[in-house]
Amino acid sequence: MTSQQPELWFDPAKCLIAGQWVAPHGGGTLPLENPSTGEVIGAIARGQAEDIDAAVTAAHAAREGAWGRMPASERGRILARLGRMVAERVDDLARLEACDVGKPLRQARADAVALARYLEFYGGAADKLHGETIPFQEGYTVYTLREPHGVTGHIVPWNYPMQIIGRSVGAALATGNACVLKPAEDACLTALAFADMARDAGLPDGALNVVPGLGSEAGAALSAHPGIQHVSFTGSVLTGAAVQGAAARNVVPVTLELGGKSPQIVFDDADLDSALPFLVGAGVQNCGQTCSASSRILVHRSRYDEVIARMSERYNALRIGPAADDPDVGPLISARQKDVVEGFIEKGADLEIAARATLPDLPEGGHYVAPTLFANVAPDHVLARDEVFGPVQVVIPFDDEAEAVRIANGTDYGLVASIWTRDGARQMRLARALHCGQVFINNYGAGGGVELPFGGVGKSGHGREKGFEALYGFTTLKTVAACHG
Ligand code: NAD
Repeated sequence: MTSQQPELWFDPAKCLIAGQWVAPHGGGTLPLENPSTGEVIGAIARGQAEDIDAAVTAAHAAREGAWGRMPASERGRILARLGRMVAERVDDLARLEACDVGKPLRQARADAVALARYLEFYGGAADKLHGETIPFQEGYTVYTLREPHGVTGHIVPWNYPMQIIGRSVGAALATGNACVLKPAEDACLTALAFADMARDAGLPDGALNVVPGLGSEAGAALSAHPGIQHVSFTGSVLTGAAVQGAAARNVVPVTLELGGKSPQIVFDDADLDSALPFLVGAGVQNCGQTCSASSRILVHRSRYDEVIARMSERYNALRIGPAADDPDVGPLISARQKDVVEGFIEKGADLEIAARATLPDLPEGGHYVAPTLFANVAPDHVLARDEVFGPVQVVIPFDDEAEAVRIANGTDYGLVASIWTRDGARQMRLARALHCGQVFINNYGAGGGVELPFGGVGKSGHGREKGFEALYGFTTLKTVAACHG
């Protein structure tokens, strides 16, 4: 690594299996690129099916050994300790993420803080999940047991590695599962750092194994492995469907957290001063590479000109730059993603551009695009229907509440939605009418909300992570009926 890069205290060209750092089968590596500069700054392990197999074996051994026998309260203590260790190293983790993902430092710090909070939350919850007794026929005592699935697979994308690991691996470990984690090939440093810290926190060997590598190799092997009893996948719709298909052959449950085309709906009575930071921020945060990014802004026609003018002002003030300079907007993750986003912007050639941020002088090899706001977009335009996964938003005018709901529900996705209105009855009506997994009233995202169940409907996926709800997803329910006369 060059001197500008953060110090690594582990070797990213290795996998962590059964508590040991091991070279992947065949010794292959993949380039580690800094998206802010395009510079190759090292190498990561190119894990193979053989490594996944070894990791699954190690996880089963952990389940049968110290980890499987550990009381829930002790599991919780380990997670809480790990959470405190993460909190102490927020800056180290943020620097790793900034150079691996191109995430502005402030955002990377927020992700590390969220990871610590997930561990605190799930550590505290570990010994509070229990079954119930069920009134049944005379002569019986019936109760339920909440048990871990066993060995869970976690396939994580590159956009929020720390947060997604916190919510999925955190909940899976809290409930006593042993995990095999396949981070994205574009972003695996914080996953490896996290697993190394988990060892230091006292997590038994094999309870968490990490195999970096390509989706088509390590990822496909993990989702199809017969020794995996639950798969948690976050990523694209196409890959999610493939993962679900592979897991189906082993009849294994899958949680899918896929993309979105999430709307914010601005009514005539909206408090625009409160809304504006979210209208723009939720579209450009993490360079738009957020599953719950708000890429559609629906505005009542009476406020349309005002919203366009005030959003444009904000676009024009956005600071774009390398992650280490902590700008408002950093680079996209890769040249490939830049091609995808530019392709979408070209599809808007026929549209009115309300604002396009100015790119300053930037490192030549970095993957930057100018955040772009399209105005007066028809709801059936490709830019209003498809997920761009870049800093591109469309503004769509509407005339009444029924039309707003129709447009909001008019895509294949249904992840989150937000409404800006002071009318309480309208708030309640829309909270029910919107087809999605989370509705925000006069806010967007509720600051991340570790406690708040999260997931989608339609092509946004199924199953819920985050909050207490995730603990149900990472367990299976056994009913015990004792006949005692
Ligand atoms: P992706 O689907 O290409 O990759 C996600 C993960 O799957 C990576 O680890 C990748 O290596 C792995 N993978 C790829 N092919 C695989 C295969 N055949 N079998 C098993 N694993 C495979 O997605 P991406 O480009 O990394 O992420 C962007 C997408 O993820 C966007 O569409 C975004 O909306 C979605 N996303 C959703 C959420 C959410 O919580 N809903 C969060 C983040 C990202």
